[in-house]
Amino acid sequence: MSDTRGLGDQPVGGDPAGPVMSTTEHIRLAETHSAHNYNPLPVVIAEGEGAWVTDVEGRRYLDCLAGYSAVNFGHRNPELVAAAHHQLDRVTLTSRAFYNDQFAPFVTALAQLAGKEQVLPMNSGAEAVETAVKVARRWAYDVKGVPANAATIVVAGGNFHGRTTTIVSFSEDPDAYGGYGPYTPGFRIVPYGDAAAAAAAVDSTTAAVLVEPVQGEAGVIVPPNDYLPRLREICDRTRTLLIADEVQSGLGRTGTVRACEHSGVVPDAYLFGKALGGGILPVSAMVADAEVLGVIKPGQHGSTFGGNPLAGAMGRTVVRMLREGPYLDNARRLGEVLRTRLKEFVGSGVVAARSIGLWAGIDVEPSLATGRQMCELLAERGVLVKDTHGSTIRLSPPLVITEDELNWALDQLGAVLRGLGAARS
Ligand SMILES: *Cc1c(COP(=O)(O)O)cnc(C)c1O
Repeated sequence: MSDTRGLGDQPVGGDPAGPVMSTTEHIRLAETHSAHNYNPLPVVIAEGEGAWVTDVEGRRYLDCLAGYSAVNFGHRNPELVAAAHHQLDRVTLTSRAFYNDQFAPFVTALAQLAGKEQVLPMNSGAEAVETAVKVARRWAYDVKGVPANAATIVVAGGNFHGRTTTIVSFSEDPDAYGGYGPYTPGFRIVPYGDAAAAAAAVDSTTAAVLVEPVQGEAGVIVPPNDYLPRLREICDRTRTLLIADEVQSGLGRTGTVRACEHSGVVPDAYLFGKALGGGILPVSAMVADAEVLGVIKPGQHGSTFGGNPLAGAMGRTVVRMLREGPYLDNARRLGEVLRTRLKEFVGSGVVAARSIGLWAGIDVEPSLATGRQMCELLAERGVLVKDTHGSTIRLSPPLVITEDELNWALDQLGAVLRGLGAARS
C-alpha cells in the first residue's frame, strides 16, 4: 500500500505546484480502494461551474446529468455558495435536540412552496421514502383503522425509490433487488401508468399509493394524462394516502415545482430530495398536512442530520430561488427546444424519445450501441450523460443551461449517432 501513503493527507485543493494525478491513476486507485458499486465513466471531475465541469486533465464537459437533478441550479451556483459560506461561518450542526435559527424559516418556506402544512426533514431521498412508508403505516393504524401489522402500500412497477432494504423489497430491478432478502413485506406492485391495476390492488388494508409522477431511473417515463387524476380518485374513494415521490421530478426539473402540477393533482404528501440541497449537501423531506405527519410523535422518527442549520440554509435558499429565479421558466422554455429537437433523432438512430421539461429519456437503436457506449462516445465529445437500462440514455442538464449549450449537446448526440452509421431521415 506504499503507493497510496499520504495521498489522503493532501490538503483539499491540493498544492497548485505539486504533482497532479492523471485520470488513469485516479481510476486505478479508485478501483483498488473503493467498492465497485458504481461503474463510472472514465472522467475525473476536478471543478464545476454552472452547466460545465472540468476534469483533472483540464478537459471541459457540458454536464447533462446534473447529479441526477441534485445540481438543478448548476455547479457552484453563486447564490447557493454565498448562502453556504454565510452559514458555515455561523453554525452547521445542532441536532434536533435544540431549535436552530434556519429551521423554522426552512420548514415554513418549503411547506408553503408545496401548499402543505408541515415538513419532516431528512437527508437522502431514500430516507424521505422510508419516512413516507413509516408515516403511511402509522396513519393506516392510527387513523384509517387497519388491523395491526396488516398495512399494505401499493407501488408501481419499474419504480426507483432508493436503495435501502425496505425500498429494494419493492423494486423490480434485478440488480437492485436480487440477493438482499429476506424482504420487507406489505408492498403490492402494479404496472406503472395502469390506474385500473392500482384500483384492483387497493383494499381496506391499503395505507398509501406511492408513485413517481414521472419515472426517472426507468427512463423518464411520463404516464398517461389521466393516470394521476385517477389515482387521486381511487385514493379518495378508499381513504388511502396518495404519496408522490418527487425526489427527482420535483423542484424545477419538469418546469414546475412539482411534476404533479402537470395533471393538476394534489397528493397527500410530497417527497423531495436531490435538488433540495442545492447540490451542496443531501437534504430531503416529506411534506404533508398535519393530519398526516401528525401521527409521528417525539422520539418515533428522525435523523441526527435532518433539519441541520446548513441544510436549512440551503433548503430555504432553494425555495427562494425557485420562487424568484428564472429556473422554472428556463426549464419550460428550453424543454420545448429539447422536445422539438429530439423529434429529429427519432428514426435516425433513436427508436423513441420522451421528455418533460428539461428531462429526457432517449432509446437508442439497440443495434447501434448500448446506452453505456453512447455515454462514452458523448463524453469523448464533451457531453456527460448517463445510461439507464439497455440502450436508453437520460438527459437532465442543469436548469441554468443556455439554449446554445443545449443545442450544442444535441448536435453532439447527432454526430455520435451519425458516426455509428445511423440513417439520416
Ligand atoms: C434518487 C431517487 C431516490 C433516492 O434518493 P437518494 O438520495 O439517492 O437516496 C428516491 N426516489 C427517486 C424518485 C429518486 O430519483
